[in-house]
Formats: sequence, structure tokens, C-alpha cells
Amino acid sequence: MKKITELIHHPYTPPAGFASPAVPVHKGSTVYFDNVAQMRSRSWLDRSGYTYGLHGTPTSFTLEERIATVEGGTHTMLVSSGLAAVTMVDMALLKSGDQVLLPSNVYNPNKTFTTNELAAWGVTHAVYDAMDAASLAAAITPQTKLVWLEAPGSVTLEFPDLRALIGVVRERAPQAVIALDNTWGAGIAFDAFSLGIDVTIHALTKYPSGGADVLMGSVTCRDDALYRTLALSRSRVGHGVGINDVELVLRALPSMALRYAAQDAAGRAFASWCQARRQFVRVLHPALAGSPGHEHWASHCTAAAGLVTVEVDPRFKTAQTDAFVDALKLFRIGYSWAGPTSLVVPYDPKAIRGGSSPYRGTLIRFCIGLEDVNDLIADAERALRVLAA
Ligand SMILES: *Cc1c(COP(=O)(O)O)cnc(C)c1O
Repeated sequence: MKKITELIHHPYTPPAGFASPAVPVHKGSTVYFDNVAQMRSRSWLDRSGYTYGLHGTPTSFTLEERIATVEGGTHTMLVSSGLAAVTMVDMALLKSGDQVLLPSNVYNPNKTFTTNELAAWGVTHAVYDAMDAASLAAAITPQTKLVWLEAPGSVTLEFPDLRALIGVVRERAPQAVIALDNTWGAGIAFDAFSLGIDVTIHALTKYPSGGADVLMGSVTCRDDALYRTLALSRSRVGHGVGINDVELVLRALPSMALRYAAQDAAGRAFASWCQARRQFVRVLHPALAGSPGHEHWASHCTAAAGLVTVEVDPRFKTAQTDAFVDALKLFRIGYSWAGPTSLVVPYDPKAIRGGSSPYRGTLIRFCIGLEDVNDLIADAERALRVLAA
């Protein structure tokens, strides 16, 4: 059964006589116990019972089960944002003296947490080239306990050879856990767990929410012992989610695959249009032949998210590329993606990748929304006139 069907027919037992598709909003900090014995014996950890709102309500347990379905895992834990999901995995799995490995094109806040909090706690890190398995092999030490993967990389969208990277870690660092930031693939473009990933994180803020109105993240795994480690750490740190937000994500989930497909189709049409503009010297989109890692995307994926990054001809100065971005009307300037509105953000390639960046011109990341793609192309075409000279 396809995930879209499975999500719509996902198990849920309504109260007798009220069979409705909607999952009710169960809120509560306090949960009553009938007696002390019941209080002592109930377990939130195996989800056999409710103990305290922070540890889950019937509504949040239902969303956790559905996100596990989306991700292809068995255990999901909700947290307050995608970034909180990243830091929850780090905090649960790393201690002083351990090393964590990050790809060079990692989601930048993952790196800043690593170079600030993790460094202060005595956790070291190394950065590897996501497009070169030998670079990952060279970075591994006996202290390597966690390896982050991202597919594709943030902003520059290079798609790595995930099978090769996972193979290197299994061979050289059997002690390490492999974590994937699965926000771009969203559980739709490829199946992370069948490739051998141990833990996925997902910014539910993006596709699962789809409304640009919720911040939430998830951590998913398959292994029971790993689940215990992650869930106990999550409970000690005190991560929780608002149940009204959980309700919004539950409501948006059945349409996620349709929204993903629509933004995929529009993203590819927009990327092809960008390829024919002489103001753009490079178009980065993993489904586009010639884009870095396209062959790996083709061997791992059946779909792509609606993100397109262009490298503007380096002869245009920052003030000119800023003027182009400012001239866009349908593409709004703002962070995040996968909502109804198309978004745009310019990046200085040196600021995000340092001196080793292969890109010299300004990078502009377009996030395709749910508008008609021909209207988006017309908007970009009109705004591009400021770069006509
Ligand atoms: C947005 C995003 C995050 C963080 O999600 P927030 O909910 O905004 O904290 C993490 N990873 C990737 C790849 C993202 O795009």
C-alpha cells in the first residue's frame, strides 16, 4: 500500500458511536491515576499508558505513530522544532571525549550547535566532504560515535552517495550511530531505513505541516535499545510539543504526498526555466542532469522536494542580486519551505561554505510553493530585468 493511502487509513479507534476521521485533541499536563499502584506501574516509555502530559497524550502518540509510518521507522519522538530534533540526537548519543562527523553542506544550525555547546561539553567534531566517501573514511577515529548525513546538502543541494557513505561508517566505525536529516526527502523521495540509516530527524515544520504555521520536529528509529536511549534523554531534557500544533500536523498529513508531488513538478519546471537564463551560471537541483550528485539522486530517489538554488553570474554584485530578490513579488523573502507561498533567500557562498566553496556568484535558493508555476516563472522573468544590463 502506498504511504498516502496508509496515512488516510491509519489505525485509530474512536470512542464508541463517534467514528469520525479526525483525531481528537487530548490535552493535559496532569493525568489522573486511580490509585498509587497504578501510578507506579504505568509506563509512557513503551506507550502502554499515560503518566504526564510532557510524556505524551493520545493525540501526540497518534502523530508519533503516523510520522513513524511516513519515515518507515518504528519509534518516533516529537520535539518542538526540527533543530531541537538535531540537538536531541546529539545530546542523547554524545558525551565528553566523543567525536561527531558533519557533512560540509550540513544544515548550518547543526554545525553551530556542534561548535558551541558540543565543543564546550568536550565533544569534538570533524567535517567531511559529503560527495567523497574517502573524505568521510579519513575523518573517522575510534572516538567517532555519531555521523550526520544530509541528502541533499543544505542550500547547494548536492545529493551524496548515501549507500557508499553508510558502507564506510559500517566498515570503519561500527561503534557509530548514523543519523540522517530527512527533511528534504520527507519519507517520500527515498526510504532512509532500508538504506541502513539508524536515526532520522524530520523538520515537521516543512512538508508534514505544510501551512507555514507550525514549528515541530521528530526523531525516528527502528532499534528498540536506541529508542530507549533517545526517549529517556528526551524526557530528561524536558522536550514537549503543544497539542494544538500536533492537531494541525495530523490534519495536514493526509495531503502531504500530494503537496510534495505538486511542488516537485513545479520545482522541476522552474529549474528548467532557470537553466535557460544567461544570468544564472548554474542551477542546483538534484533531479536535473548535470547537477552535483544527480546520478546518486537517480539511484536513490523517486521524487524531489520543491527547492531550486541558482548561482548568479559572478559579474553581478551583491547589490544587484539583492535588487533582483527585492523585485520578486510572488516569491516572498523568508526562511523555511514547503508551505503554500513560494520563498526566496540569497546566500553568500563563502559565508555558508568558507573558502572551499566551488561557487563564486551569489546563491539564490527558491522554495516553490503551491502557486501556478507559470505565474512564478513570470514573476522571476519580470524581476530578472534588473539583471539585464
Ligand atoms: C528547516 C530545517 C531544519 C530545522 O527545522 P526547524 O523546525 O525550522 O527548526 C532542519 N533541517 C533541515 C534540512 C531543514 O530544512
